[in-house]
Amino acid sequence: MKQSAENAVEVVGVSKVFGQGASEVRALDDVSVSIRQNEFFTLLGPSGCGKTTLLRLLAGFEQPTAGQIFLSGIDIAGLPPNKRPINTVFQNYALFPHLTVGQNIAFGLEMLGRPKAEVSDTVERMLRLVRMEALRDRKTSQISGGQQQRVALARALAPQPKVLLLDEPLSALDYKLRKEMQLELKRLQHETGITFVFVTHDQEEALTMSDRIAVMCDGNILQVGGPRDIYDHPADRFVADFIGESNFMNARIESVSDGRATLSLTAGATVQAILPEGVASSGDVTVVVRPERARFLKDGEAGASEVSLPATVETIVYVGTDTHYHLKLSSDEAFIARVQNDDRGGFLPAQGQAVQVAIAASAVQVLKD
Ligand code: ATP
Repeated sequence: MKQSAENAVEVVGVSKVFGQGASEVRALDDVSVSIRQNEFFTLLGPSGCGKTTLLRLLAGFEQPTAGQIFLSGIDIAGLPPNKRPINTVFQNYALFPHLTVGQNIAFGLEMLGRPKAEVSDTVERMLRLVRMEALRDRKTSQISGGQQQRVALARALAPQPKVLLLDEPLSALDYKLRKEMQLELKRLQHETGITFVFVTHDQEEALTMSDRIAVMCDGNILQVGGPRDIYDHPADRFVADFIGESNFMNARIESVSDGRATLSLTAGATVQAILPEGVASSGDVTVVVRPERARFLKDGEAGASEVSLPATVETIVYVGTDTHYHLKLSSDEAFIARVQNDDRGGFLPAQGQAVQVAIAASAVQVLKD
């Protein structure tokens, strides 16, 4: 079977089961996903959700129990790892400590039997790409973690794979270096045009770096979309909870017209929101509101496109750029409002104060349970 060559990778109905009987683990459960050419695609999810397993199936280190994987439209079942136009950057970099930076980058090319002149040209180009020209002759045991990371990337990019797999490559770096390498990786992906499939459990990293993200849980992909799409329109409660901070509130659907539901929030207001596919058109639902979509009303007057809820301020937490107000709504539900610490903060209440909190109506998202 041949699939569309438009996608760099197509995963079709893939399952992976480890072990048997009582010790059976279904690491992937009928997963399908398409990864486009030249995109920075991230597999995001908590520990044990199946991210690494999916990466290992793409690399060919494991075989699927069921389903198919296509690369540029061609079924790669049975193709060993070294015959796939795919390379992997591992978490621990797996460099040869006794070889120099240049020799590490050259190693894979030499194994592929590339001519000497081509190898040395490519090594120079890769050194420039990762800005490591000055350290070409240094042993990799004598360079820093961030520099080792760059060498590992250069080595994996050198044979010009169609797809580069990256398994939590930044997790060993400290915060500042990790931030720097996030931008560096994005630049490398952009400059080389190679499709990157990146694995992380860090939602902020995924939002910062990715063209698109697949959110995984328990061997399933729950949602695929751009960072903004996933943040603003989480498909279900797990995604809303895993990515960013969320306020969940109970509501009842009063009526539905043209795909828009009129909801009465238990916390005491009526609001209209889009009813996602797969949600029944009556009964109780959960809605989510991001903390930054709320503000405090000085005189109790909400704007035309806002809903206003009575609340009490329980705790105030200052976090530098913002202040988090932990509120209790009249329904007894907890709600966090995040206000930026700038001059536009408007009215800022004190601890224990009774307030009206206004929420942008467009910020109220109905969730699939
Ligand atoms: P982490 O972020 O911790 O690396 P992950 O999302 O990458 O987690 P996987 O490593 O893919 O998760 O593991 C998915 C599930 O499959 C887990 O329950 C894991 O214990 C199990 N698993 C993975 N590899 C094997 C194996 N070789 N044998 C048995 N079970 C395995």
